[in-house]
Amino acid sequence: MASLVTVAIFMDQTEAMVARSLLEHEGIGCVLMGEHQVMAQPYLLVGMQGLRLQVLTPDIVQARLLLKIAAPAPGTVICPNCSSDRTHRKASLLHAVFRFLAGAPVRKTSNKWQCANCSSVWADEEID
Ligand SMILES: [Zn+2]
Repeated sequence: MASLVTVAIFMDQTEAMVARSLLEHEGIGCVLMGEHQVMAQPYLLVGMQGLRLQVLTPDIVQARLLLKIAAPAPGTVICPNCSSDRTHRKASLLHAVFRFLAGAPVRKTSNKWQCANCSSVWADEEID
């Protein structure tokens, strides 16, 4: 049975409404918990610790991906497979050794990224 899960918390009512509209536009049903209380009594927002945008469990991954695409943190690389932001450049020691032996400048990083959540690997060129 699907249940509601919070995918984002907003301390700004306008941002919360924009995010809800984005999800609804993409066909994802969602609710903004506390919206009506805050509309009537805006000072409740702090006490409620923000407005909670909730979706049904089958829509969690797509909703989080859409919200991150809409407003990713600066420098954040999102996994194209699971939409996690727990990503890092994949170390390539072998590549560094070949570059060293060939006399080319050795770079500390590669163009490959890896997801700590699902272990997917992709190259910079694959990121749109
Ligand atoms: Zn992933």
